[in-house]
Amino acid sequence: MFDWEDLNNDDTSFNTQSGPYIPEASDCMRCGLCISLCPTYKVSPIEAETPRSRIRTIDKIINETAIPSAEEILHLNNCTQCRACETICPSQMAYGQLFDQAREMLYSSEPSKLNSHFLAQLGFKLIENKKLFSKAIKLIAAYQKSGLASLVRKTALLRLLKCDGAEALLPEVSLELLKEIYPTSQTLKGTVTLFTGCLSAAFDIKTVKATIKVLNAIGYSVLIPHQQGCCGALHQHQGQGKAADVLAINNMNVFNALEVDAIIYTSSACGLMLKENFNAPLFDITEFLCKHWPAELKLNNSTLIDKSIAVHEPCSQRNVSKVSEKKHDAVYELLAKIPSLNVQALADNQTCCGAGGVHCLTHPEIAEPLRTIKLKHFQESEADYLVTTNIGCSLHLNNGLYTDKAPTDNAVIHPVVLLAELINRD
Ligand code: SF4
Ligand code: SF4
Repeated sequence: MFDWEDLNNDDTSFNTQSGPYIPEASDCMRCGLCISLCPTYKVSPIEAETPRSRIRTIDKIINETAIPSAEEILHLNNCTQCRACETICPSQMAYGQLFDQAREMLYSSEPSKLNSHFLAQLGFKLIENKKLFSKAIKLIAAYQKSGLASLVRKTALLRLLKCDGAEALLPEVSLELLKEIYPTSQTLKGTVTLFTGCLSAAFDIKTVKATIKVLNAIGYSVLIPHQQGCCGALHQHQGQGKAADVLAINNMNVFNALEVDAIIYTSSACGLMLKENFNAPLFDITEFLCKHWPAELKLNNSTLIDKSIAVHEPCSQRNVSKVSEKKHDAVYELLAKIPSLNVQALADNQTCCGAGGVHCLTHPEIAEPLRTIKLKHFQESEADYLVTTNIGCSLHLNNGLYTDKAPTDNAVIHPVVLLAELINRD
C-alpha cells in the first residue's frame, strides 16, 4: 500500500530496494483529489464518473480478474483518457497504463463491451489496412465533391444510421499524393523524416505541407516514407494492444531503416505513442523548430498583424509527463517569433476538450458539452485563431465551429500553419 511518507520523495517514482515502485490499481487511497480535474465528472457530477471509481473498476478487472457490471463498464468507457487525474494524484497512479491494461483484458474476453459504434470498429479496420484506407478516402472525397454530401445532410439518413457525428467530423479530404522527398533549397543543415501516420495526409494536408515548407526553409530536407502507418494510439486505448503492436513494429521497421537526423511528428497524441521505439531522436515539430530556428530568419507578419491567438493545450502534451510540459512551452516560444501577435493560453486549458481519440465519436453526449465549454472560452477570448498541436482536438473543435457545414475560416489550426504563411523562403 501507499506510504504517505513517500510524498516527501522528489523523484517521480517511489524507489524500493528492487527498483522504482509503480502503484497498482489497488493502491488508490480514494482521497478524491483527482475528482475536480476529471472532465467527465464536470459533465455528470456523480461518484461513478470519478477517476477513483474507475480505478476501483480497473482494480476489479486486473487484480480480482472479475468482470465488472455493465454499469461499471459504461462509466469506465466514458473516460476521455485525458490523464488529468495523473497530474494531481499523490499515489502517482499510472492511470493511463492501468486503463489500457484493463481495457485490453476486457477486450480479449468481451470485445463487444468496448466499442459499440460500428463506425469506430470500421475505422480501426481501415487504419490497419492501408489499401482499404486509401479506397475509403477516395469514396469519401467523391461523396464530398459530388454534392451528395449536402443532399444527404438534408435528410434524416445520417441520423438514422447513427453516422451524423462521424460525418460532421470529416474535414474536406485531400487526395494529394505526397512525394517521398522534399529537398531544401537552403544550405543543407540535415535531413529529417516526417511522421504522417494514418490520418494527416488525407485529413490535415495543410499542416503536413506547412511543416515541410518550414523545415525546408530552415535548411532541412524532409523524407516522407510511404510505408509508414498509424502510430497505434487509437487501438492501444481501445484495448487492442496486439493490433497496436503490429502497427508500432511496422513504423519501427520503416523509420529505423532511414539515416536521418530526427523524426518529426505534428500530432502530440501520435508523438506520445511513438516515443520509445526509434533510433533517431523524435521531436514534436514545435520543439524541433525552437531548437533549430536560424537567428537570421525573420517572419514577414503582414497578414497577422495585431491578430490574436488562443492556444488550446492538448491533454497528450499537458498531462502525460514532465517532459511534455517543456514540449508545450515550445508552442508559446514558437508563436513568440511572430511579431505583433497577441498570444494567450485558452482559459481552463487543464480540462479536456472531449476529443479523446474516437471518444468524440463514441460518446458525443460527453464530448459535445466539453467542446461547448472550450468554444465558449475561445469566443470570450476574442482571439482570431485557436491553435492546437493535436489533430484529434483540431477536428473535434473545428466541427463545433461549423456553420451550415462550412468551416468558419479554419479557425482551429496547427501553429506551424501560421508560421508557414509568414515565411517567404522556399
Ligand atoms: S488522487 Fe489518486 S489516490 Fe486519490 S482518489 Fe484519485 S486516483 Fe485515488
Ligand atoms: S483520464 Fe481524464 S476522464 Fe479519465 S478518469 Fe482521469 S481525469 Fe477523468
